[in-house]
Amino acid sequence: MDFSGKHILITGGSRGIGKAIAKAFAKHGACVAISYNTNLQAAHETIDSLLGGPHLVIQADVSQPDSVKQLIDTVISKFGKLDIVVNNAGIINDLRIDKVDYATWQRSWKEILEINLIGPANISYCAIQHMMKKNGGKIVNISSRGAFRGEPDCPAYGASKAGLNAMSQSLAQKLAKHNIFIGVVAPGFVETDMTSETLSGPNGDEIRNQSPIGRVARPEEVAQAVLFLAAEGSEYMTGAIIDVNGASYLRS
Ligand code: NAP
Repeated sequence: MDFSGKHILITGGSRGIGKAIAKAFAKHGACVAISYNTNLQAAHETIDSLLGGPHLVIQADVSQPDSVKQLIDTVISKFGKLDIVVNNAGIINDLRIDKVDYATWQRSWKEILEINLIGPANISYCAIQHMMKKNGGKIVNISSRGAFRGEPDCPAYGASKAGLNAMSQSLAQKLAKHNIFIGVVAPGFVETDMTSETLSGPNGDEIRNQSPIGRVARPEEVAQAVLFLAAEGSEYMTGAIIDVNGASYLRS
């Protein structure tokens, strides 16, 4: 895979899966812009670890429409163009319907949907205006196994990722005529800050053993699927959702 001459935005590129995606694209020749929300130090550590360049680091809260527009405008003005976007930034909230009060339930749904679904929708809108003008581009969205398998303790998270899948497939159908292709990667559990507490807790072994490989994914294994969908030659896979879950949940 060769991404020389490609300019790529990865939201939530400061840590975890986004960081692994940024490193993989940079290793294969791309100029990478990573966005972060609050963790400036992690973002700078990631940028400093990337091969090649020039690369960019930009603060943007994906739940804020103005921040999203400013992010895309900045990337385009600094890079001159934007070829590939990875909507990776996301959060998860424990939200047990039998434990939380109504106010918490409402607040959490709003927060999750604004970051995990409306954020990518707004990023896609702004990036696609540019991609339609230059007649081409690719978007890869990071979903989750939870969209299919269910998330009994995090229902808003599962719904946000199911919504992301549906949005991705609708846009894939709408935008192919503009040479814009949309892919989705749906990981199971991955070793990152998002899961470290759960994986080191009493349910850690049960989670690792959900996969016959006996472990959760490494962020680099998710990055591999993202690069595959973003690479030249994968265009006819537009609308596809690639599982990266170690056979912990199979669907056909
Ligand atoms: P992580 O380690 O917690 O990192 C989250 C990233 O998203 C950070 O870069 C963070 O920025 C950024 N972010 C969070 N809220 C944001 C906001 N409002 N605006 C902009 N950026 C924001 O998470 P991860 O495990 O790498 O997860 C990355 C993606 O993979 C998420 O969409 C997640 O749902 C999905 N996923 C993860 C797993 C898993 O097991 N880890 C499984 C399936 C899917 P700061 O550094 O500034 O906080």
